[in-house]
Amino acid sequence: MTRALVTGGAGFIGSHLCEALLDRGWSVVCVDDLSTGSRSNVGYLEELGGKRFHVVIEDLSAGEWESKAGEGGFDLVFHLASAASPPDYLAMPLQTLLVGSTGTWRAVEFAYQRGARFIFTSTSEVYGDPLVHPQNEGYWGNVNPIGPRSVYDEGKRFSEALTIARYRELGQSVGIARLFNTYGPRMRPGDGRVLSNFVEQALTGKPLTVYGDGSQTRSPCYVSDLVRGLIALSDSSLVGPVNLGNPHEVTVLELAHMVIEATGSSSTVEFMPLPEDDPKKRCPDIGLAMRELAWSPSVALRDGLVMFIEWMRARVDGVIG
Ligand code: UDP
Repeated sequence: MTRALVTGGAGFIGSHLCEALLDRGWSVVCVDDLSTGSRSNVGYLEELGGKRFHVVIEDLSAGEWESKAGEGGFDLVFHLASAASPPDYLAMPLQTLLVGSTGTWRAVEFAYQRGARFIFTSTSEVYGDPLVHPQNEGYWGNVNPIGPRSVYDEGKRFSEALTIARYRELGQSVGIARLFNTYGPRMRPGDGRVLSNFVEQALTGKPLTVYGDGSQTRSPCYVSDLVRGLIALSDSSLVGPVNLGNPHEVTVLELAHMVIEATGSSSTVEFMPLPEDDPKKRCPDIGLAMRELAWSPSVALRDGLVMFIEWMRARVDGVIG
């Protein structure tokens, strides 16, 4: 049996990753402080995994999770723990910086001590408000180091620097993935991110809150595609960084209309101020992932939206808690 530890395993992407690893017959330890993740995300996995799934509720940067993770070696450590929705990380700036520095330091050291390959989930936010389009891994980015978003962006950039330094100085096995906007079941309804907001708003008949004029672009990737990419990276010896995302780029206003159409909602669109430093364009160049990992996304935006809406509808209607 193979053994993995997933930080942030009770979060949106983390819980899907735990599920995929359990499906492969692996044994999985999930470390999460539930600050943005939830127990309900992993309840089903405790049934699915039985003794192969173990949840440790601890803060990655301050808690005593290493001793609670169990004795012995691990094959993989996936480090996902962090608030990821802008309103979430803007509400806890220092905690976000801590997990993006001390948290990563402890996670990568744990991987080294236990003999595991370390997979760091970085972000398209390292490109900031990009001046190169689409973004490839060679682009260094355009980040405001003291802007409000910097607590997330710079924590991820520091973590990339730390991960690559461990590879260079210690020869540690590492892989860095840069995740672009991802959506799907287990996002917290209305968590502040564009699709969880829009779908929740459309299903409850509220206006869809488009920030700015809605001309800014994003390229949403369905969560199952993203998780498949993370596993492909962990199976390889690629160091990266490597972009993981769906290059189908849409404006935020187009996205609002797609959601209204797909939900059959009578909601309208309400324009609101654009947040500070909001990137104007974002689209991944996935050439490297296609070449090195034989990976590309397969779920079309319209199909992913239908699956996500179905999941969200059951929560909003109160059918499922
Ligand atoms: N956005 C929006 N309405 C919302 C939430 C987000 O128009 O209710 C916009 C946001 O300004 C950004 C894009 O949608 O341009 C994606 O935002 P999100 O928070 O999902 O992720 P980001 O890519 O900014 O980290």
